[in-house]
Amino acid sequence: MQKMTLKHTKELDIFFNEHRRNCTNCGKTFVEGDTAHLGYMKGRDAALLCDDCAPMLEETVVRYYWQELEYEEPLPDDKLWRYMDLAKFV
Ligand SMILES: [Zn+2]
Repeated sequence: MQKMTLKHTKELDIFFNEHRRNCTNCGKTFVEGDTAHLGYMKGRDAALLCDDCAPMLEETVVRYYWQELEYEEPLPDDKLWRYMDLAKFV
């Protein structure tokens, strides 16, 4: 198994959050307990791969124990808001 480089970048973290549900190569839906392999393909394209596709990674940045989010994921068009008192806002 390829060694993890642990060279996280902000772009790679965003890529993970936007693609976390499925393997970006074969489309397999991750389920609790799967391993998700995050890294780069040849040509430096970011990828999040399942166990079967993982050998395709040129660089493995990190492997995650895949689990469901503990909160409801907001949709891209959702408005985020919260109440706070004026003193805290200031
Ligand atoms: Zn796959």
